[in-house]
Amino acid sequence: MKNNKYLINSYITIMEFSIYTVPLKKKYPLQISRGIKDQSVNVFLKIKDKNITAWGESAPGKSENAGNAKIVKEQLENFISTDIENESTDDLYNRAMEMKIAPCAYASLDMAFWDLKAKKANKPLYKYLGLPKPSQPTSVTIGINPVDVIRERIPIILKDNRFKSLKVKLGNPLGLDADKEMFEAVYKISKNYNVKLRVDANGGWDVNQTLEMMDWLSKREVDYIEQPLKEGNESDLKYIFDKRKMPIYLDESCRYAKQIPLWDKYVDGINLKLMKCGGITEGLKIINSARALGLKTMIGCMSESSLSIAASASISGIIDHIDLDSHYNLNPDPSTGTNLINGITSLSENPGHGGELKKIYYA
Ligand SMILES: [Mg+2]
Repeated sequence: MKNNKYLINSYITIMEFSIYTVPLKKKYPLQISRGIKDQSVNVFLKIKDKNITAWGESAPGKSENAGNAKIVKEQLENFISTDIENESTDDLYNRAMEMKIAPCAYASLDMAFWDLKAKKANKPLYKYLGLPKPSQPTSVTIGINPVDVIRERIPIILKDNRFKSLKVKLGNPLGLDADKEMFEAVYKISKNYNVKLRVDANGGWDVNQTLEMMDWLSKREVDYIEQPLKEGNESDLKYIFDKRKMPIYLDESCRYAKQIPLWDKYVDGINLKLMKCGGITEGLKIINSARALGLKTMIGCMSESSLSIAASASISGIIDHIDLDSHYNLNPDPSTGTNLINGITSLSENPGHGGELKKIYYA
């Protein structure tokens, strides 16, 4: 793995930044409405401040304006080369956004700074932020798959009742019949397990398809639907909201806290992701804005390892629905930081967010 070190000098300290790129491979390829993914290269950031080491992770994403690890690394190097010490996380975040640093690139720096702050205070990050420990089980994602794959895979994933809910990806490019055929298979198999069912269409439907599917899914005990309409078609939500048969959450359509008041009248909740918003600093604002407007909250992930999932889990204790599962689908997971306890993506009591890249990837 490539290591690049940068030293930032200030009057008080010398911070040392190291960037590592690590290939990640998924156990099962993940297909959603827009395409399929079976691997990625993530960027890991280590900050050394005197004797404290803090960690961050970026999962590059085309839809998040930094499609690969090279772009993420260049943007991080660019930002780190400016004077970034002795500024608040808020000021740094605002500056990064002004400099057009992609949120998925900046997220690693932001989570590493929060890790550093909590470690300096010798507290787990969730306690440092005054938040409760995670207590809601996570959903685990089932991608778009042929029915025979669904029948084979779900029993493996739900073995020993490890997980308490499934998030089923719909919006199959082949149409609603394909969606219904796959969901019916999931629904039947899931009866053998005590799991809740949620659906994410990833923008794969139009207004009429959404209304038809919500009606159909409501007869199959689905808790909620996420991102039915394509990003950009948010003004059509008003044709759905009053007729909805289940709560509607926005994901792709809402990245930042300032966007929530645009759509709050037509949705029930918002799915925040550190890679989408740029880290914990903005994530906390999204939680506050959503709650102030009476919306529910969800926290999700991109193709992240345990490290970034631990950072997300650190703010998940006050979030209604948890979707912190991407690391369970990695083989191997290059980092540590979370434990699966009774279906909950849980945290240790170590100082900071608890996430670290395993030594074999950088030593
Ligand atoms: Mg989603």
